[in-house]
Amino acid sequence: MAEQGVLLIVCGPSGVGKTSLCQALLKARPRLTPSVSYTTRARRGDEVDGQAYHFVDVARFEEMVERGAFAEWANVHGNYYGTSSEVIEAAWQQGHDVLFDIDYQGAKQLKERYPHATSVLVAPPDMKTLEGRLRGRGTDAPEVIARRLKAARHELAQHELFEFLLENRDFDQALGALISVYDSARHARALKVDWLNRLLDQG
Ligand code: 5GP
Repeated sequence: MAEQGVLLIVCGPSGVGKTSLCQALLKARPRLTPSVSYTTRARRGDEVDGQAYHFVDVARFEEMVERGAFAEWANVHGNYYGTSSEVIEAAWQQGHDVLFDIDYQGAKQLKERYPHATSVLVAPPDMKTLEGRLRGRGTDAPEVIARRLKAARHELAQHELFEFLLENRDFDQALGALISVYDSARHARALKVDWLNRLLDQG
């Protein structure tokens, strides 16, 4: 029986720091591999096709939806994003666990398809801090920030979809908590696989 690895879903509003947390987790736990999504949004600055995302046009994305290539997909802020089922299965075959940095709509679909997936919502300590972080980037107009804050409230209101809520007040503490969640999921998975193999060996 092919071992099904850990699937770790990390969600959170724009500006909450989830990308930095995910990058630090990947460094700390090499068995974990990032899922590279497909998207129709334009490539930013130094993003490399096939690394940050697979960048495709709308026609290609819709063709992939038609043939059921996605384990989940969603329209996020006006662009399509999706996770291909092949990416998940290839990672499992190589003995990797998979990390998903996706939005709550995708988290919901993945949990339906893979009930053993572990899901984490990263939240700011409070909305003022989130607003400060969004302003601190200095790149967005006030109306863009207002839109992001509204989207953040909506995303945080979906907390019931998630098993773990992780407050990003202090980066190192939040990272420690995220590593603990992953380590526990890995440990639980390994115990289950051992148990099942022993059971099947009994004939
Ligand atoms: P960005 O365009 O800033 O890289 O990502 C925008 C949002 O899309 C983020 O919340 C990110 O987590 C989410 N996202 C990235 N890839 C996927 C995906 O494959 N599926 C879903 N549902 N959301 C995604």
